[in-house]
Amino acid sequence: MEVFDRAERLSREELDAVQLVRLRSAVERARRSPHYARALAGVTPDSIRTLADVRRLPLTTKQDLRDNYPYGLLTEPVDRMVRLHASSGTTGNPTVIFYTQNDVDTWAGLMARCMHMAGVRPGDRFQNMSGYGLFTGGLGFHYGSERLGCLTIPAGAGNTARQIKLITDMGVTVLHIIPSYALYFAGALEQMGIDPADKARWPVRVAMIGAEPHTEEVRRKIEEMLHLRAFNSYGLSEMNGPGVAFECPHQCGMHVWEDAFLVEIVDPETLEPVPDGEVGEIVMTTLTREGMPILRYRTRDLSRFVPGPCACGRVHRRLDRIKGRADDMIIIKGVNIYPMQIEQVLMAMPEVGENYLIVLEKEGFIDQIRVKVEIRQEHFVEDMRVLSGLQKRIQTRLRDELLVTPRVDLVQSDSLPKSQGKAQRVLDERGEG
Ligand code: AMP
Ligand code: ZN
Repeated sequence: MEVFDRAERLSREELDAVQLVRLRSAVERARRSPHYARALAGVTPDSIRTLADVRRLPLTTKQDLRDNYPYGLLTEPVDRMVRLHASSGTTGNPTVIFYTQNDVDTWAGLMARCMHMAGVRPGDRFQNMSGYGLFTGGLGFHYGSERLGCLTIPAGAGNTARQIKLITDMGVTVLHIIPSYALYFAGALEQMGIDPADKARWPVRVAMIGAEPHTEEVRRKIEEMLHLRAFNSYGLSEMNGPGVAFECPHQCGMHVWEDAFLVEIVDPETLEPVPDGEVGEIVMTTLTREGMPILRYRTRDLSRFVPGPCACGRVHRRLDRIKGRADDMIIIKGVNIYPMQIEQVLMAMPEVGENYLIVLEKEGFIDQIRVKVEIRQEHFVEDMRVLSGLQKRIQTRLRDELLVTPRVDLVQSDSLPKSQGKAQRVLDERGEG
């Protein structure tokens, strides 16, 4: 196994040992911050004798970060910090994360490891199409790519024509792109008359996609449309940003860098650990961060550990594709629905185009769900019978998956709103009460 960092080769026993030592020092450091000095309430590094003792530590929520805004989780004076990022505010106000120089360096190393694992090498030309600024996806990938030794193009988000020109002029081989944008991007390439199978014009071989939930169907679609391999990338600002978990060439779950993060999967209601391999909320502890360690952070993201060893040889455990956020659950007529279930059904249908929107509405006192679906140009025909047949088919498949019958509107391709950053998949028009 060719690795970027020796830590990728650690055995289970070695990883466990590293985690225990680092967990104890994380507690030691965290105690220096005003928040954890209170929240740890007498728990010390000596309280941690085995990894299972992590459960003696308090959980940390987004609300804790807000309550302690801006400096309450810092272990050292703010003048020792060299960087600040903020969460993209997937829900509510942003939260702010600080990094020391060591934290920035460690993060770059983790990112370089991820890119290397996906087959990126020095000499590759990397175009970072994620937003820069406070969002971690810009500078996170940027520093990782430079550390790895790639030509790094900070293209940022948007301006599709310029992106395509840069890619073709510079012979870009690797992209970082948000999945919803990647789907749209493929259409734009077609319009500009570029065939992604023509490797002389389109030398891109690898795309790193992440930052928002997406299904396996969307990944396959991106791979086919853009003629490349797409690797799932998971991270969150509270855990640095990207570089937390990443797919290896086997594309069967994302290896979490367990020398840097301790992951638990808990039942979001009881907060008890779920049986191995079952879905629950990801809870994470930073093991190496010095400026702003975070203990047992409740990510609200739902996933599970993929059981068994990975064929690549790394023993760092794998997180399954994120099923969605605990906060994303929609309840319609008493039935729990996750947007990703809808995406999975839609994207498996060849007539469906690149975008969709879930609208929640009220009819009298009853909540209803409406799904607006973009249909590919060639299927958007004049014949009403054909269209209404397709509409019925989509509706039936959705009903079979969701157990409630949504309304389905077929719309022309490119007609639904696109976002420059993370896609907004659900529009709630139910109003108050
Ligand atoms: P932020 O801290 O603003 O970058 O947002 C982090 C959140 O984005 C995570 O908690 C997830 O909900 C979501 N996210 C990031 N990467 C992925 C991914 N690969 N798949 C699904 N959701 C993701
Ligand atoms: Zn692997």
